Amino acid sequence: MSLISDVIQSTVAVVKGMKRTLSEIPREKWTVQYPEDPVTVQPRYRGQHLLHVDEAGKEKCVACYLCAAACPSDCIYIEAETDPRPYADRVGRDERFAKVYNIDYGRCIFCGFCVEACPKDAITHGYNFEISVYNRTDLLKTKEDLLITKQKQSKNYRVALSTEDVDSEFKEI
Ligand code: SF4
Ligand code: SF4
Repeated sequence: MSLISDVIQSTVAVVKGMKRTLSEIPREKWTVQYPEDPVTVQPRYRGQHLLHVDEAGKEKCVACYLCAAACPSDCIYIEAETDPRPYADRVGRDERFAKVYNIDYGRCIFCGFCVEACPKDAITHGYNFEISVYNRTDLLKTKEDLLITKQKQSKNYRVALSTEDVDSEFKEI
């Protein structure tokens, strides 16, 4: 008797499961065949950071360390330097600039506190999420990797509700 009961219960469970599975087939699919098809990221998505420059290409960061102080993961490393040359000749918009600006993506939790803390709008999150590496040391990104003028735009993602290119502030050098 219990064997028959078990068979009936199992059959009912299988039928219920198949009913659920089959009901999903006609529904809209959200799976994306990445990287063949581009991924859509939301406008406020926090990807790899961008270090910004002004309209003349001068770095906006003044190495004030506020972002590093705000970072809960202690993953920002900055070395400041002063460049007394005239605006046209120097690296940064201000005399003081970041000679070294590193972010360790092995520690970063993409919380955005550094962006909030910056008084110069020098750092924001871009949309790039393609930062997987085989070696943990390669997760350490330097200023050369983070400057908006040095980052290459990937064709593998686009921003929802936007007709503009991803990282539209990207400037070709
Ligand atoms: S996003 Fe958060 S964890 Fe990452 S560098 Fe900025 S403050 Fe630090
Ligand atoms: S990115 Fe902004 S907060 Fe961080 S050191 Fe540069 S100017 Fe200061």
